[in-house]
Amino acid sequence: MTDRNDDLFDAARAVIPGGVNSPVRAYGSVGGTPRFLASASGATVTDAAGATYLDLVASWGPALLGHAHPEVVAAVQESATHGLSFGAPTEGEVELATLIADRVRHGDARPVERVRLVSTGTEATMTAIRLARGVTGRDLLVKFAGHYHGHSDGLLAAAGSGVATLALPGSAGVPAPIAAQTLVIDYNSPEALAAVFAEHGDRIAAVIVEASAANMGVVAPQPGFNRLIAETAHAHGALMILDEVLTGFRVHPAGFWGLQQAAGEEYLPDIITFGKVVGGGMPLAALGGRAEVMDQLAPTGPVYQAGTLSGNPLSVAAGLATLRLATPEVYARIDAAAARLSDALDQALADAGVAHAVPRAGNLFGVVFASEAPRDYAAAQAQQVFRYAPFFHAMREQGVALPPSVFEAWFLTAAHGDAELTAIEAALPAAAEAAAR
Ligand code: PLP
Repeated sequence: MTDRNDDLFDAARAVIPGGVNSPVRAYGSVGGTPRFLASASGATVTDAAGATYLDLVASWGPALLGHAHPEVVAAVQESATHGLSFGAPTEGEVELATLIADRVRHGDARPVERVRLVSTGTEATMTAIRLARGVTGRDLLVKFAGHYHGHSDGLLAAAGSGVATLALPGSAGVPAPIAAQTLVIDYNSPEALAAVFAEHGDRIAAVIVEASAANMGVVAPQPGFNRLIAETAHAHGALMILDEVLTGFRVHPAGFWGLQQAAGEEYLPDIITFGKVVGGGMPLAALGGRAEVMDQLAPTGPVYQAGTLSGNPLSVAAGLATLRLATPEVYARIDAAAARLSDALDQALADAGVAHAVPRAGNLFGVVFASEAPRDYAAAQAQQVFRYAPFFHAMREQGVALPPSVFEAWFLTAAHGDAELTAIEAALPAAAEAAAR
């Protein structure tokens, strides 16, 4: 029996490559027909056939407050009445940049003095890398296997997210000389970090790292590893780019960096990238850093970057409203929900006798079908990936929407209250049984 989702997928595939505008949405690794979403509110999404699901995707992270928070929607509506796009500076941009800079701090440490707004996380990381190359006059970039930083040319080598989901080595269409500028090393390996700097140290412009890996499943940095990256890079005159596109404003008001500072792991990245939550569900991302680094961007400096829609007023309105509503209580609520749900997930899989781990990084968590939480990409890939599809579909049949890949984090929102969590918990045992088969 087909439903409206099947019909739409057929129509989509006739006109959109694979029927989707971003590969993981196609359900390639779990099979079946993607849900075409018609609306979303609070903790739920509703598909084109009218089925409503408790949502653990949260638009892949942005919906920190829950979908379509009334005050965020009102801010966007109000902004729209003044015009959709100006291509000129606005007061809202100044407010948002100031808010980002003020929030990302710990004691006297203030890594974000200047902020540039862009439209996507990909643009933020791409610009950060160009800036690091411009500042250092060097070309090489170090990235970690399984980390995802968007889809720009140099960043698709051994990337996470959809590249991991589709088990791709990288991407066609990236010129070999560009791929050769990216040195990919194992995550959480002090030895690999030391070795790459020993061999290429004076040619490395930057190390880019997810603040906590969350695109090969959730793989937290080992204690001290992010600090070691900062120390090693700085000792060789290279920059550290901390990618908080996914973690920024989601795991803590000051991002994963803030969480680590609070835990006593102190280090200073040179450039931090933001996305997802910072735009409150609208296309907006940002990069920030010390003034002397950021001022190398045009028009003050020689590193060019631009965008017709950069700092779009509707996106800025959504971002401002979201960040202002993201109070410590919001984080406390999401942290508690993550603790509760990850425990329930762990218990359900244990009861079903499935080898598993439930890795956590702040309020991010996910499932791994291996008896130990991975520390790197090779371990993440070695899990029993095939168990995820039946697990995913069993949850879906019980009205819970999980990310359609085992390599993605589960995202909670402030709209997931006791009733929603209880309903998700109730669905877990049957899904765990399905995964056991
Ligand atoms: N960096 C990280 C850590 C991400 O998780 C993502 C997207 O998932 C990106 C960069 C790219 O952001 P965007 O999809 O907005 O281009």
